[in-house]
Amino acid sequence: MALERVADGVWLLRGDLRGAMNVYFIEDGDGVVQFDAGTKSMRKKTAAAAQELGGLKRIVLGHAHADHRGTAPFLGAPVFCHPDEVDDAGSAKAVTPYFNLSLLEVAPVRWIYPMLLKRWDGGPVKVAGTVAEGDEVAGFRVLHFPGHAPGLIGLWRESDRVALVSDVVYLVDSARLKALPEGEASVPHPAFNWNHQEAKRSLRRLAELEPLVVGTGHDQPLRGEGLRATLEAAAEKY
Ligand SMILES: [Zn+2]
Repeated sequence: MALERVADGVWLLRGDLRGAMNVYFIEDGDGVVQFDAGTKSMRKKTAAAAQELGGLKRIVLGHAHADHRGTAPFLGAPVFCHPDEVDDAGSAKAVTPYFNLSLLEVAPVRWIYPMLLKRWDGGPVKVAGTVAEGDEVAGFRVLHFPGHAPGLIGLWRESDRVALVSDVVYLVDSARLKALPEGEASVPHPAFNWNHQEAKRSLRRLAELEPLVVGTGHDQPLRGEGLRATLEAAAEKY
């Protein structure tokens, strides 16, 4: 199983499109909590990885977009998310209503997204409970980072400055469907944001935490001493 160690007790499973879809596991007692749920095609590998790590106790969604809820209906574990994400998690729509794909500059990318989102999606998720700012999840604290989605949450562990942040920050150029140059990051493209100004504010809040590891929703985690500057610059990209 291609699990990558991110930090003490934190594992990453990458899958789907060029391995850019991320599912995290955090050790919690004799099992694991899963943070974010990737895409539907990852369901078997995700189930096997959770099993290998002792068994899945619960799933916490960073947010409810199609490429972050994909495995959630298939793993037999209770699913939690932020209260402001419950409706979208339970929706049958793969294309989230506030997406504005007409803002995407490249026409073929504009056309392909509805198809990609449908393929990535696992369908509606039954939410067992909610978590909000300040709650504890497997030794991490929940932080509310609204903007990309109204109820987007991250997980923060002060002791080793590890942040798991779903789509607070992108390492991919989603408007052109390619990776950003090494070391670059960006606020998600406005086409995919519930409230773009809030998304920028949430990214600046993440920068102020001065994390040493940022586990993103897509692509490899960011690491290092200089992440505050990287994240502040990222907030100004769009
Ligand atoms: Zn998203």
